[in-house]
Amino acid sequence: MTFRIPAPQILIDGQWRDADAGQTLPVEDPSSGETFAHIAAGTARDVDAAVAAARAALAGEWGAMPAFERGRVLARIGHAVLEQIDDLAHLEARDVGKPLKQARADVVALARYLEFYAGAADKIHGETIPFQAGYTVYTLREPHGVTGHIIPWNYPMQIIGRSVTAALVMGNAAVLKPAEQASLTSMAFARIATEAGLPAGALNVVTGLGAVVGAALAGHRDVNHVSFTGSTGVGVEIQKAAADNAVPVTLELGGKSPQIVFDDADLDKALPFLVNAGIQNAGQTCSAGSRILIQRGVHDRLLAKLVERYQTLTAGPALADHDLGPLISAKQKAMVSAYLELGRQEGLIVAEGRVSPDAPADGHYVPPTLFANVTPDHRLAQEEIFGPAVVVIPFDTEDEAVAIANGTAFGLVAGVWTADGGRQMRMAKRLHAGQVFLNNYGAAGGVELPFGGVGKSGHGREKGFEALYGFSTLKTVAAHHG
Ligand code: ADP
Repeated sequence: MTFRIPAPQILIDGQWRDADAGQTLPVEDPSSGETFAHIAAGTARDVDAAVAAARAALAGEWGAMPAFERGRVLARIGHAVLEQIDDLAHLEARDVGKPLKQARADVVALARYLEFYAGAADKIHGETIPFQAGYTVYTLREPHGVTGHIIPWNYPMQIIGRSVTAALVMGNAAVLKPAEQASLTSMAFARIATEAGLPAGALNVVTGLGAVVGAALAGHRDVNHVSFTGSTGVGVEIQKAAADNAVPVTLELGGKSPQIVFDDADLDKALPFLVNAGIQNAGQTCSAGSRILIQRGVHDRLLAKLVERYQTLTAGPALADHDLGPLISAKQKAMVSAYLELGRQEGLIVAEGRVSPDAPADGHYVPPTLFANVTPDHRLAQEEIFGPAVVVIPFDTEDEAVAIANGTAFGLVAGVWTADGGRQMRMAKRLHAGQVFLNNYGAAGGVELPFGGVGKSGHGREKGFEALYGFSTLKTVAAHHG
C-alpha cells in the first residue's frame, strides 16, 4: 500500500510554505523506530502569520458565508475524507503506530464529525426572551473569532473532528497545532479540506514543537478561544497563558477512568469492553478504562477470564494489525515501563500479553499488562500510565465502589456494569465524570455525545451539539421600541 507523505510545510492562508526559519523535525515510525518523514518546525512568527490569515478570513469570504454553506463545505470535506480512507488510515497507522483497523475507525469517526456538524450548521440559533412592555429581546449565537487548537498525538483525526470541525461550522477561523510526534494526518486533512473548497485562511496549520508553536498560539493576543487536548501539566500552562488575554479555554486532559462490575453484571457482555477499553491505542487514550473495580462475589471468576484474555493479546507493528501497536516513542515506553517494573517488583502482575516476534527491535513495544489486588491509593491505581496497563481492584459495597471510583484527581469517564436499574441510576448520579456508561463503555465513540471532564480531567465539552455552544459566544440584544 502506498500513501502520500505530506511535504514538510505549514498551511497559511491557503498556501503551503516552509516554516519561517526553514527548519524541519524528523518524524519517527513508532513500529520500527525509523525516521520516515519530516515536518516543518514552525516558529512564533509562523503563528503570527497563521493568526493574521485566520483574522483576514473572518473579514472575507469565510466570514460572510451563510451557515448552511459552511455546512455544505464540511459535508464535502466529509465525503472526501471517506474517499481517501485508505490513504489516511495508512498514514495514521504509520505515524501513530496504531493498528490499521483502529486508524480506519478514526477516519470514519472524522467523517462522522464532519457529517454531524455539516447537518448542525443551520440548526443552532438564539432565542427570544419575554421582557418588559416596549422591548423585544433576542440572542445571537456568534463565533468567537480565531480559535487555536492544540492537539495530541494519540487520536489526531478524531480530535480534529470534535474540535476543529465544530469550530469551523460555527464560523470561527482556526489555527491548528498538531503534536510534533504525529502531524501528518492533520496536514493531509488540511489539504483535503482546501481541495474540497474550504476558503483560504479558514483553517491554518502550523506544525512544530509544543514549547514553541503551542506556547505561541496559547498566549497569542489575537486568538479568541483555545482548545487543548493533552496532559494535565501542559493544560494548566495553556490555561495560564490564555488567562493573560482573558481568553476562554476548553481543556480535555487525562483520566484514570473506572469500569465498575457488580455481582449481578453480565460478565460475558462486559468482558470485551473491559479488555478493549484498557488496550485500545495501546492504552494511550485519555478515556482508557484503566481501573477495573470488581465486586467480591464475582471477583475471582472475572479476574480469571481477564487473565485468560490478556495472555492471548499481542502487540506488534501497526500495519500488521495486531491487538495493539507500539507506544508512540522511546520516552513514552520508558515512562510506561517504569510503572510495569513497579508492579513487577511488588508482585502485582497477574497476566501479560506478548510482543509479536515480527516486531522490530527498535519499535516501542510493551506487553499489555494486568495488575490485580491493587489498593485504591497505590500509584498504579492513581496515576495515568498512558500505556496498556490496567489495575483490578476488589470492592464489597456500592458505597465503597463509589468512593474508590471517585478517589482520584481525575473525572473523565466511568463505566458501570449491573442489571439493577435503581443502582444504574444511583451510580450515574454519584460518579464524578463527564460521561457515564451503563452496561457499555464508550458508546462506540458516539460523535453525538458531549465529552469532557471534571477535576484534573479538564473542563468544557466537545462533541455533540454542546461543542457548538463552546465554540460560540452569546450576544443579547434588547430593543426598546415603545
Ligand atoms: P502528551 O503528554 O500526550 O504528549 P502533551 O500535553 O505533552 O501531551 O502535548 C499535547 C499537545 O500540546 C502537543 O501538540 C504538544 O506539542 C503541545 N504542547 C506541549 N507543550 C506545550 C506548551 N508548553 N505550550 C503549548 N503547547 C504545548
